[in-house]
Amino acid sequence: MSPTATTSLTQRHAALSSPQNQITLLESLDLDRLPEQGDFAATINKSGWAELTPSKLEIFQINIGKLCNMACRHCHVDAGPDRRENMDRQTIDDCLKALDQTSAHTVDITGGAPELNPHFRYLVEQCVVRGKHVIDRCNLTVLLLPTMQDLPEWLAEHKVEVVCSLPHFRQPNTDKQRGDGTFEQSIEALHRLNAVGYGKGNPHLKLTLVSNPADATLSCTQAAVLEQMWKQGLRENHGITFDRLIAINNMPISRHLEWLEQSGNLQSYMELLVNSYNPDTVSGLMCRNTISVSWDGRLFDCDFNQMLDLEIQQPDQKYLHIRDFNPQSLANRQIITGRHCFGCTAGAGSSCSGAIA
Ligand code: SF4
Ligand code: SF4
Repeated sequence: MSPTATTSLTQRHAALSSPQNQITLLESLDLDRLPEQGDFAATINKSGWAELTPSKLEIFQINIGKLCNMACRHCHVDAGPDRRENMDRQTIDDCLKALDQTSAHTVDITGGAPELNPHFRYLVEQCVVRGKHVIDRCNLTVLLLPTMQDLPEWLAEHKVEVVCSLPHFRQPNTDKQRGDGTFEQSIEALHRLNAVGYGKGNPHLKLTLVSNPADATLSCTQAAVLEQMWKQGLRENHGITFDRLIAINNMPISRHLEWLEQSGNLQSYMELLVNSYNPDTVSGLMCRNTISVSWDGRLFDCDFNQMLDLEIQQPDQKYLHIRDFNPQSLANRQIITGRHCFGCTAGAGSSCSGAIA
């Protein structure tokens, strides 16, 4: 493994492998001098949101496992080659049954590296048959594995949108965050996607890149400027084209939280997030139009709450499993929030679809 990558918190038995310890660490920070003392619920309350409630369910996000071929320093999933959690076929079928009870137009498949789940292609096929728009959150390097040689063509045949993480269009910035050699492999994977028609303006073969900062700063708020810079950089230096760039903030959880703490950036990063609160982002928060399912079928408001084990609770305090999916009671829920949520409302806002406001 390269020196800039890491191993999972779980494998190292690190204190922050416990979601409760992550929440406790965030809550222990002294943010008393900041607006609303850094209390997220009080902050949105001041902007007119008595509570955070769902809007229409549009996106069904399924995290099908923590197994990944990489082990990036900033990973909010604590994924890696040492993780073995993968959604089984029964739970995937339970997800499909639940999906059939909703009018969600998009199925967003994430991980880990979702392609490493043996049921990935089955899930995609079943969603396509149902007329859903399917997103594969791909780390790019997985496409170079010997067992994945046919995957770009297969994804194109099924008109799957490929949303690829690439921290930066320059090699040092990407390798710093994801490990040495990642950039070169990512470029090779992008060439393979371009070769089967991705990233050339075809609305059925969308290639979206996702960038996130390598340090304790916010993602760039000037999305259009950034996208042009990336398009030019990748085209001129590598002959690569893509359709869209989205920029996201790093959430102060899991391995990014560990890095923030160890590098002495945690207090200042949280202050930055709280001070950059943008009330215009709240209505578009992804937890409002998304439901997130974990590899073992538990239900969450978003992938971040999933990693913090903040499960959706019914009014009767019972936790909900995908096999007991009930769209009505979900629509009436109150979204669970905490200090980590300031990562979604800072600056232009941040979600799995990029900036919000
Ligand atoms: S590729 Fe993605 S899921 Fe895998 S370790 Fe890196 S950030 Fe985590
Ligand atoms: S982390 Fe973001 S998406 Fe998740 S509940 Fe908080 S505000 Fe919503």
